[in-house]
Amino acid sequence: MARLAAGPLSAPRLLTRRGLAAYTNARIWDGVAERYLDANSIVVEEGKIAQVGRDLGGEDCAGLTVLPGLIDAHVHMVLDPAMRTVAEHLAEEPDAVRRKMAARALAMVRGGITTARDLGGGQWLELELRDRIDAGEIPGPRLLCAGQPVTSVGGHCHFWGGEAADAAQAEAVVERQRARGVDLVKLMATGGMQTPGSQPKDAQFDQAATSAIVAFAKTRGLEVAAHCHGTPGIRHAVRAGARTIEHCSWIGQDGRRGPYDAQLVAEIARREVWISPTVNAGWARFGKAFANNVTGNFRAMKTAGCRFVASTDAGIPNVRHHDLALALPVFARLAELSPVETLRCATSEAAAALGLGEVAGVVRAGASADLLFVRGDPLANLDVLRQPVLVLARGREYGAAG
Ligand SMILES: [Zn+2]
Repeated sequence: MARLAAGPLSAPRLLTRRGLAAYTNARIWDGVAERYLDANSIVVEEGKIAQVGRDLGGEDCAGLTVLPGLIDAHVHMVLDPAMRTVAEHLAEEPDAVRRKMAARALAMVRGGITTARDLGGGQWLELELRDRIDAGEIPGPRLLCAGQPVTSVGGHCHFWGGEAADAAQAEAVVERQRARGVDLVKLMATGGMQTPGSQPKDAQFDQAATSAIVAFAKTRGLEVAAHCHGTPGIRHAVRAGARTIEHCSWIGQDGRRGPYDAQLVAEIARREVWISPTVNAGWARFGKAFANNVTGNFRAMKTAGCRFVASTDAGIPNVRHHDLALALPVFARLAELSPVETLRCATSEAAAALGLGEVAGVVRAGASADLLFVRGDPLANLDVLRQPVLVLARGREYGAAG
């Protein structure tokens, strides 16, 4: 059969009438194993991986490596990374935001990202985007969305509408998100960097309120992603049963990144809470003192057995939605992860953290046909992820970003 075209495809292409396609003569990494599989062929049918095996025929993928499509565990589809201030975002017309979101979604799949978890917006526009992508109306990654984050009065991202003075009000915020059809809850357990008057070091809710909010969300079938910079907020979220700790910056009472809390690190590992450190490509520019602090914390967390997911907080200033592939080598260096460990964080581990373990993040019969084709050896060099040759998102083919 024909060789794969390396050039950009103009539009997503459903492969055949029955959505049947096969790729052969490729090197395959399954999202989990230490090495490549013995298999060299993948058969895709109706958006799913039908078969993984040897010499099954299909398009010749000589020189290409196939791996699961990447997962970014923390993005904000509504945010324009070219904007510097909250006021600029809030002044945007919803239709302009919708158009930009659709362009971001296309750029993401072309960049190899086939699943992303959206951790906040104010008007549920990201849920609308999710539904349009799911319906096949527009191309984009599978999205899991949190809607309005639960926050304290005047707290981090209060302008998105999720303010709550106490646990009872927070439960009402959760109910409002559930009515809109969110996939999970985002809880601002501490203040944040980009909200004036909010302090990253400070917890926004005490232990009792945090525990009540997380327990309530779970009764509604919703897991909680907790935004945590300061150590007390990390503690509250971990003990409350949050599924992922976003940022996990270990900011101390002096407002600076302090050392990790060893007892709490052990608890994170024991409870199997995932850490989502939101390392974007820009972290490569930070100074040595910062890098040493971050690396020391990662080393301790890794040694204790903590689990990580790859995430970028895309949408914040200068962090583009399609740049996870640029962030992964920086994450690997700061966290002292091997390429295969890093890739697991962006595939199978992330899928497990997001509750998609049977669906995404793996190359396995029955899983969604979310596949990233690259030239070269990603288990030796993460930089090859930057230039996808072909991406499949739920069985649809997308050409390279060009
Ligand atoms: Zn965020």
